[in-house]
Amino acid sequence: MNKFTRLAKRIDSFRDEMVNMQIRLCALPSISPSSGGEGEVQKARYLTDFLKQTPFDDIELIQAPDLEAPAGYRPNILAFVNGHRSTRTIWIMTHMDVVPPGELAQWRGDPFKAWVEAGKIYGRGVEDNQQDMVASLFAVKALRAEKIIPSFNIGIALVSDEETGSLKGIDYVLKHSQAFKKEDLIIVPDSGNEDGTQIEVAEKGLLWLKVKTVGRQAHASTPEKGVNSFKAASFLITELDSLHRTFGDPDPLFEPAISTFEPTKKEANVPNINTIPGEDVFYLDTRLLPKYTLEAVEAQIQKLARKVEKRFGVTITFEVQQRAPAAPPTSARASVVTAIRRAVKDVYGARAKARGIGGGTVAAVFRRAGYEAAVWSKIDETAHQPNEYCHIDNLVGDAKVFAHVFLQE
Ligand SMILES: [Zn+2]
Repeated sequence: MNKFTRLAKRIDSFRDEMVNMQIRLCALPSISPSSGGEGEVQKARYLTDFLKQTPFDDIELIQAPDLEAPAGYRPNILAFVNGHRSTRTIWIMTHMDVVPPGELAQWRGDPFKAWVEAGKIYGRGVEDNQQDMVASLFAVKALRAEKIIPSFNIGIALVSDEETGSLKGIDYVLKHSQAFKKEDLIIVPDSGNEDGTQIEVAEKGLLWLKVKTVGRQAHASTPEKGVNSFKAASFLITELDSLHRTFGDPDPLFEPAISTFEPTKKEANVPNINTIPGEDVFYLDTRLLPKYTLEAVEAQIQKLARKVEKRFGVTITFEVQQRAPAAPPTSARASVVTAIRRAVKDVYGARAKARGIGGGTVAAVFRRAGYEAAVWSKIDETAHQPNEYCHIDNLVGDAKVFAHVFLQE
């Protein structure tokens, strides 16, 4: 029996243990303080116990200060297994934080008491990002159980704060640790598709704007005495749709292949029907292909706003909520891409392809820092939804994919 077959068999034998770990992790919610939670400390403690038992050769805890968190910090864990060669480290990075459950009425059960139903585990965080966190941990546990030394060093990174900007997560880790090297392979299993064929190597630039339109409040029966901010803002929204033409060139590497400009959130204006609203607030979510600059889009948005201001006599101001230019893409021929393709072919019998997506995963943080990183996992993309789930087959299958990568020369 070759090494991979042994590991795969061993991982199959861990199936129930993996499901149990999912359920345990789910009961330690790890919602970030800025989203009303307590952070990741409890989950980090539980995971550290597992890392010690496995055992890993070295465990490093990096605490990012956060006065909003009851513990005063956000935990980040780097756990290492020594390989035959230490010239590079094969990294798998997942995040411990989860998003709030949203409306509980939409859940069929308690989001923090994970339940199993027809081959799937349901609960907040079971897909995002626990599926591949558990998979990566049990891939290492299988190596240990089979007493197999991996070809290169393995690094398992368990980070905080992914859902709210990563400043106290991988961003902080990269600034305070020397553990990452340019020749390392970095896998971020935090996005993917149903058949596991998408290897994400590029992301679009991101721009989130709060758009405030100020007119003048008046009685709705005498609109001429006021300036209807809602009407002007609505006009602007339709004008903004022209961005699809101005920045309309597609790039087939990406899914979808075009830049997107979507008005999304809308704040309430007046509470009653018979008042002309003097103030209106909506938000715009822009995902821009790397061939365009955010500056060019911002200039065009300003131009459209000035036009609407002139026509309606309103004042329109913009507040940047999030702004991230596209990171330099990882090459579709990078070693990390090749390694995942090989593993996916052997484990799932599928042909994976390098793709660009709308973003944003934390791989961009690595890419901006000059590291090649690929985002891959086999998931139905139920992240952030009510009744988020994970196929147990994917939980086990992804562990085999990681084990396969660990064995590659
Ligand atoms: Zn995630």
